[in-house]
Amino acid sequence: MTAQRDYADLVQRGLSLDLTRGKPSPRQLDLSNAMLTLPASYRAADGSDGRNYGNLQGLAELRELFAPLIQVPAGQLVVGGNASLALMHDTIVHALLSPVPGAARRWIEEPEITFLCPVPGYDRHFTICERLGIKMVSVPMTADGPDMDVVERLVASDASVKGMWCVPKYSNPTGVTYSDETVRRLAAMTTAAPDFRVFWDNAYAVHHLTDTPDELADLLALSAEHGHPDRVFVYASTSKVTLAGAGVSFFGSSPENVKWFLHNTSKQSIGPDKINQLRHVEFLRDGAGVAGHMRRHAELVGPKFELVDKVLSERLGGLATWTSPKGGYFVSLEVPHAAEVVARAKAAGIALTPAGATHPYGKDPDDRTIRIAPTFPELDELEQAIDGLATCVRLVADERG
Ligand code: PMP
Repeated sequence: MTAQRDYADLVQRGLSLDLTRGKPSPRQLDLSNAMLTLPASYRAADGSDGRNYGNLQGLAELRELFAPLIQVPAGQLVVGGNASLALMHDTIVHALLSPVPGAARRWIEEPEITFLCPVPGYDRHFTICERLGIKMVSVPMTADGPDMDVVERLVASDASVKGMWCVPKYSNPTGVTYSDETVRRLAAMTTAAPDFRVFWDNAYAVHHLTDTPDELADLLALSAEHGHPDRVFVYASTSKVTLAGAGVSFFGSSPENVKWFLHNTSKQSIGPDKINQLRHVEFLRDGAGVAGHMRRHAELVGPKFELVDKVLSERLGGLATWTSPKGGYFVSLEVPHAAEVVARAKAAGIALTPAGATHPYGKDPDDRTIRIAPTFPELDELEQAIDGLATCVRLVADERG
């Protein structure tokens, strides 16, 4: 009966805690407060006036700063607005309405479009597909990235498979970084669709939590080497580097794809917010500037991940498994009856991402994965929330046997 008593005590406490979304904490945002009074100059490196329209591709100095960090040559990089998610959404809309290089026709004219979705994965990728009428097929994640035997079989046998979501580094939510062999196979594989694209969402490229960062192979370069130069769309943003509501985003790809992308976006916008781009260049300066800034993030975020690991180990050893990522924003907890655990936590005032959100259509067939986002709460609240979550796991295990 201990589990029931612990749960009754937990409910009694009337908590109101939120572990749902991977948001930076106020203290992390404070690291970028100096940006609020930048830029000091509105002149770009080429002398142009950042206050005016123009420069759809974005400032060269900002593209050069991020090019090595996200493994795209600066000339093939485009700077977008504050949300890389909007770039992903819009790229698919463009592909639906204007044939991507190598396509026989617009995707909207295809009888069916399918995207491969490594699971557990990022719910907002899946909701883009749902909104745009794209069928999703799950592919299991392994410790090396998506199961490439499954991926190779599906892309080779089904010409409706036009896309695949990938969060290749410190993946959301597992924290896995794709192995060199996984990346090589993605670059080399034969696809039935000539216009197949990998949506390479490198959202956590620089978000390390240790001094021995994971290394990610360069899919864009490898694909070109294997004769598939147009295979990859790369995305990234500074949402979790500088300010989550006021960052800059990036789209990178082959010269052909970038031309296609800019042609389409030129119908959407006369130019991006270059004042924000200048602000980012002045604040981050160079690669060392980004690395130093990310170390300060890690000092704030690292202890939270350690705390999650410690509480889960103390309370759930043998009952559940979870990831201990070396970077990124999430811990993935695997438990039996995940949906019921989340419901019990909610009733006790602990909000978690809905069970199933990590899978297409919100359905986790094994009902196992719970995504934990530990960055936003401060340590004391986080400890209460994870301890409360562990109480719910124990309760459900006890009740369900
Ligand atoms: N991709 C992944 C994998 C993410 O986890 C997130 C944020 N949770 C995003 C994209 C969203 O990025 P942005 O703020 O640039 O839209």
